[in-house]
Amino acid sequence: MSITLTDALLTYPDGDTRLCALDHVNFAVDRSKLVAVTGPSGSGKSSLLAVAGLLITPESGTVHIGGVDVTGLSRSERTTVRREQLGFVFQQSNLLASLTATEQLQLITHLGGGRVRSVRSRARDLLASLGLEKELDRRPHQLSGGQRQRVAIARSLMNDPSVLLVDEPTSALDEDRSREIVALLANLSRERDVAVVMVTHDLGQLDLVDDVYEMHSGRLTRAQVTA
Ligand code: ADP
Ligand code: MG
Repeated sequence: MSITLTDALLTYPDGDTRLCALDHVNFAVDRSKLVAVTGPSGSGKSSLLAVAGLLITPESGTVHIGGVDVTGLSRSERTTVRREQLGFVFQQSNLLASLTATEQLQLITHLGGGRVRSVRSRARDLLASLGLEKELDRRPHQLSGGQRQRVAIARSLMNDPSVLLVDEPTSALDEDRSREIVALLANLSRERDVAVVMVTHDLGQLDLVDDVYEMHSGRLTRAQVTA
């Protein structure tokens, strides 16, 4: 398994008590799979991604990435695992307004070092492979919502992650554009051998995914797909 959560518990303070965001969650995704996590607002989906993405450490339980227990790592070790093995795509594409599509991607590896020319050509190759060959030098305001999400996805692939964590990538898109983005995630999971975890409200695209989980009040269960 590329990413595994075992018996993960996460609570937040809630007045005099605590709110259980992850209630002993078990979850595993293998490479080359696209898995969807659905469920109502406030059920713990983003918390699941935060724990899987090593942004929050669970109170108990473990997280394994690539078979390695990363639960007890120091903050700096976690940062290294995140940079080398994980990719993130958020609901809003979080692109910088002043940068071209290519520059958005270049920025990522500049932060971690890397040769400018090879980084630039890798950025352009990645964007082209996601259907953005004509948009390489456009800035966010010159892109459609779907194109901006593609740039964000391309950016998340710059470090060649083994796990991609995607939070509601289609919430700002229409039906057709949403389907294109989910199909793109399904393809890239297979072609790039990545475990993709996609949180989504969008039940119309679940026929494109390998597995569906449902979250309710911090409890995660495997759903029956009826596509
Ligand atoms: P979802 O992504 O499914 O909407 P979240 O994981 O964001 O759910 O939140 C799960 C529950 O935890 C919600 O009740 C939310 O209000 C609460 N919560 C999330 N983050 C925090 C926080 N930092 N502090 C306190 N409560 C939080
Ligand atoms: Mg959320």
